[in-house]
Amino acid sequence: MNKTIGFAGLGNMGLPMALKLVDDGYKVRVWNRSPEKCVVLSDRGATPVPEPAAIAEPGGIVISMLADDTAVEDTTLGENGILSRLGADGVHVSMSTISPAAAARLAEAHDMVGACYVAAPVFGRPEAAKAGKLWIVVAGPEQAKQRVETVFDVLGQGSFDFGEKPEKANVVKLVGNFLIASAMEAMAEAFTLAEKHGIDRREIAELFSRTLFPCPIYQNYGKAIAENHHEPARFKLSLGLKDLDLVLKSAAAGTMPMPLADLLYNRFITSVAKGRAEIDWTGLALAVSEDAGLT
Ligand code: NAP
Repeated sequence: MNKTIGFAGLGNMGLPMALKLVDDGYKVRVWNRSPEKCVVLSDRGATPVPEPAAIAEPGGIVISMLADDTAVEDTTLGENGILSRLGADGVHVSMSTISPAAAARLAEAHDMVGACYVAAPVFGRPEAAKAGKLWIVVAGPEQAKQRVETVFDVLGQGSFDFGEKPEKANVVKLVGNFLIASAMEAMAEAFTLAEKHGIDRREIAELFSRTLFPCPIYQNYGKAIAENHHEPARFKLSLGLKDLDLVLKSAAAGTMPMPLADLLYNRFITSVAKGRAEIDWTGLALAVSEDAGLT
């Protein structure tokens, strides 16, 4: 089996994912907009390349893990972009959280040159990426998905297939992030209510994450929200704002109101306006405390 792969995007998620592939014996060609981030990879045997096109080999497999729609479309469709070299039968596994509309545009562009676009956004933080324990949501052409199954085995602990239309996977990812952000708001309000009545918010987090809500979001995010611990960012608050914006746009496209998403969007906008774009997205809880007159 040909264990050669291209990888674009070495942020909080992309770096540990690319390292995982190197550790599994893949020959990895890497590109990142800020080239200095490639050093960790090249020290471990990967090959840094100067432009996105060069991560691809005709008919091969590439992965992208980039910030947003603009980053993925520029890196893929721009001059010297991935698609200029991927060619017929090449597979692009796009793991970023982007809009369903961008995924559909990208799929069409790949189709036109005979390449395949597989959307595979993930759940899990950088620690999960490092351990190869991501949950992967997949949609795209059947044969292409089969071809990249072994890659998913390296990066994830399981995958969920939502059919042949890539944009469906991106909808599922947005649904998941809406649920997480809603849980964060609920925890922030509940813990602050307790605190206003003289009860230690950490004890509340401990009680409910061990009893009624014994799940990763209440346990891990709950701890950070109870302890007001939001740095360093594992998932930047600015990216949370991007995702709530995508949730609302998807809701509008589906003609549905999402009052809770409206509230969360405003919470993220407030936090960015207060200079918190670069802290972890759990930091949205700080605005809840401030509204209650706590520092
Ligand atoms: P990040 O740390 O901010 O990294 C973003 C990456 O995108 C960097 O490689 C950055 O390059 C690149 N980039 C940004 N704008 C670009 C542009 N215009 N052109 C080319 N490259 C560009 O983000 P991350 O946390 O790794 O997240 C990556 C994706 O995964 C996002 O879609 C995010 O929503 C999703 N995600 C994140 C997590 C998490 O816990 N962090 C979990 C699940 C999904 P530079 O290094 O040059 O800035």
